[in-house]
Amino acid sequence: MRMPAISIRLRLTLGALLPLFVAILFCSLIGVYIINSQIAAQAQDKVRTDLNSAREVYLNEIAHIRDVVRLSANSLNAAKAMDNGDRAALAPLLLTQLRHEQLDILTAVDLRGRVIYRAGNPSAFGDKPLPGRLVSRALAGELSAGSEILSGAELAMEGERLLKQATIQVVATPRAKTSLKVVEQSGMVLLASAPITGSRGRIVGALYGGVLLNGNNALVDKIKRIVYEGIRFKGEDVGTATIFLNDLRISTNVQTASGQRAIGTRLSAEVYDRVLVRKEKWVDRAFVVKDWYFSAYEPILDLSGKVIGSLYVGMLERPYAAVQRKVTCYFGAMLLLGSLLGLAVSGYIGTRLSRPIRELQNLVKRYSAGERGVQIAVTAEDEIGELAAEFNAMTRELTAQEEEIRCLNRDLELKVRERTAELEEKNLLLIKTREELVRAEKLAAVGELAAGVAHEINNPMAIIRGNAELLRMELPPEDPSLEEVEIICRQVSRVERIVAKLSHFASREQKQLGLTPLGPLLDEILGQVGHQVPLQGITVVKRYRELSPELMGDGEQLRQVFTNLILNAVQAMPQGGELSVAAAADPLADECAVSITDTGCGIPRENMEQIFNPFFTTRASGMGLGLSVSYGIVRDHGGRLEVESEPGRTVFRVLLPLGLRGPHAGISPQPELLLS
Ligand code: ADP
Repeated sequence: MRMPAISIRLRLTLGALLPLFVAILFCSLIGVYIINSQIAAQAQDKVRTDLNSAREVYLNEIAHIRDVVRLSANSLNAAKAMDNGDRAALAPLLLTQLRHEQLDILTAVDLRGRVIYRAGNPSAFGDKPLPGRLVSRALAGELSAGSEILSGAELAMEGERLLKQATIQVVATPRAKTSLKVVEQSGMVLLASAPITGSRGRIVGALYGGVLLNGNNALVDKIKRIVYEGIRFKGEDVGTATIFLNDLRISTNVQTASGQRAIGTRLSAEVYDRVLVRKEKWVDRAFVVKDWYFSAYEPILDLSGKVIGSLYVGMLERPYAAVQRKVTCYFGAMLLLGSLLGLAVSGYIGTRLSRPIRELQNLVKRYSAGERGVQIAVTAEDEIGELAAEFNAMTRELTAQEEEIRCLNRDLELKVRERTAELEEKNLLLIKTREELVRAEKLAAVGELAAGVAHEINNPMAIIRGNAELLRMELPPEDPSLEEVEIICRQVSRVERIVAKLSHFASREQKQLGLTPLGPLLDEILGQVGHQVPLQGITVVKRYRELSPELMGDGEQLRQVFTNLILNAVQAMPQGGELSVAAAADPLADECAVSITDTGCGIPRENMEQIFNPFFTTRASGMGLGLSVSYGIVRDHGGRLEVESEPGRTVFRVLLPLGLRGPHAGISPQPELLLS
């Protein structure tokens, strides 16, 4: 049997599960995508807001410096000292403020713009400071603050320490713009300036002060602290802030792989173009130094509106990626669990649905193997239940049909057997009839031959006899030849007898019909047999005493038949034995059976066919006419002559009709013939 590639159960399971699996998978993918992109979008939004906060902190710092400078400029001591041109009086005031407010620069200038006192570098005065724009504005009575770039020389004027602090080695950074600079000495400074107003309300000078951002991480750390509140992920700060001078990190808490602040590294070219060239914000994922960050940049402008750097905040992407991974894992686990559950449920349902089908399959197999009366229990009322009911009905119907066919077959076989038996019977009859015909023809031919031979022999024999008798009469009694003549006479008599018998055999005599009592006839024959052949050692058993049916026929011919058969039986037992003669009448069949049984040598199988042929004999002195003549007589009386033989037992059975009225009545082809 061809095995189904996929079982119904598997197909049901797949059919139920596959759409479910696809739906769950689809939902999971969409869910993961939405959640992940939401997480990313929210992170971007947050970093955008963080940048705003960072800018606020940055501006607050500028505002603070501005307030410090304004308050210092407005102090009475400052005005008085400037009025009097007293440098020494300015020194304690400005130095105190510088230290107290942790400024890097706090310098007073007179109305001509010359430096009166530098708290950061008291020895350098009398020059004109380079952040002249701020000084001019202050001398014009304006308060101003912002981010400015001071060159190395300007920083050196404000103090050697500042130049040192501002000097940064440029680190080669991949993805950054190409730059020939190896060392940066310019500094980004948060600067503020304010006018110093004298006692009569006129401006007597100006004060400017500021903080150098190069290498000063206080501001970026403050931004990180305020905005990100020190959130960490696996020992690393999640939030970072950086201040760029142009594209150079001058103040940052982004760390290098070795754990150092990444000062001196540079901005990527992409961000550079967007933020520094196009003066736009940049909010996106960015690879910063050694990791991916959700990043936001915005340009830092100086007081003239020129881009001098940028402010950056960024959040490490890894915590968000971890969340995204977690979400993906949850969805994956859900998908797996859902699929397993679906598999179990649909497997269970599939098993339940396919069980009756398998049962049905088994029953079909059993039915095909020849088992009958198989019925499936109809439990469900669904299509499978209907199928089972249909199957039951079908097997019942098939069984009934088979039974019918079997009956028909039996009848047919019976009829065939009957017909065959009839045919065989008829065939046998035909064979017998043919044999009989052949035999009859043979008998007739032999009869004619015998008649001819008898006729031709008679005359010469008569002459021989006459001459022999003459010779006997003429010879004297003492003649020694007389004995030979006597022998000739006896043998001539014998030949004459044979010739007579042959003539008898050939002659066509009318039957002398009459009722012949069977018992006395058989008695008579058995009495006479002893005269013809010696019966020494032979026991004669008669089994016909009680019944003595009368046979309608030619008494003499019937006598000849029984005599021949009894003589044959006796001759078959030269060493003695038992001769049994039985007779039985069957009134129903209107038939009488006479059996002559001997315990002699039996008839060999190969002779069986020939014993009824004329002149067939196995005896030296026999003529082979006894049985053929008997056969002819019995047949002539409408009867049958049958023989059965085996070594030690031979039965000849003569079956004659009781009321003999056969078609052959009156015809008697054979004369009396008793041969031994
Ligand atoms: P005959 O007696 O002259 O031989 P039959 O026609 O009477 O001629 O018998 C033919 C042959 O049938 C016999 O030669 C013998 O071989 C065989 N035969 C007949 N009757 C018997 C018998 N009762 N037992 C054995 N052989 C028999």
